[in-house]
Amino acid sequence: MRITFFGPPGSGKGTQADRISAYFDLQHISTGMLCREEIKSGSELGKRIREIVESGYLVSDGIINEEVFNKIENIDSFLLDGYPRNLSQAKFLDEFLENAGKPLSGAVFIHIPDEEVISRLTGRLVCACSNGSGNIISNRRKEGDICPVCGEPFMKRSDDSLEILKNRLRHYHNLTRHLESYYKNRLLEIDGLGTVDQVNERIRKELMVWE
Ligand code: AMP
Repeated sequence: MRITFFGPPGSGKGTQADRISAYFDLQHISTGMLCREEIKSGSELGKRIREIVESGYLVSDGIINEEVFNKIENIDSFLLDGYPRNLSQAKFLDEFLENAGKPLSGAVFIHIPDEEVISRLTGRLVCACSNGSGNIISNRRKEGDICPVCGEPFMKRSDDSLEILKNRLRHYHNLTRHLESYYKNRLLEIDGLGTVDQVNERIRKELMVWE
């Protein structure tokens, strides 16, 4: 199976992608995570990416496409998380996969309302082991508490401030949302409201069809 997950920031796609890829034995490739790793490496490219990510903008298609294609070139089953994020990336991906003779099975669209995005992400804390893909709600932990698993402190993600979040949401509505019609014949629409387990169950049930 070769699938992509998209949805607004905070829709839980990272958390669900982690679980679904483990369940169906798919390689999980998160472009947000790839960006954060490049930033952490301190490379020149990482410095450029940091400026973009921290202003809530999207990294250029050229950089992201290359990162993704290098990862998926030699694998047959994968789950892309946060990629594609606009129509041009989606077309590039289709062309690349068609040429490789391994077309995309479909796209999973997890949707939640904007008010829920703001409420979830302004309260999100992450640690080194969740590395940005885990949503830890602040009423259970506070900033600076130590994660019992990785031993690193819980922190706010630098791009989760309200101002940057508004930019991310704007890009989502202007660019990413169009993927819904692009993938219309191979789209799985999932209601992202509810507990992690409930949403996971919905996705798993529907994905059995694509296996
Ligand atoms: P995420 O962890 O998916 O919320 O991604 C965090 C940030 O990484 C985004 O706000 C973008 O700046 C950048 N990013 C992740 N995926 C992409 C992509 N497919 N295209 C462009 N920028 C991306």
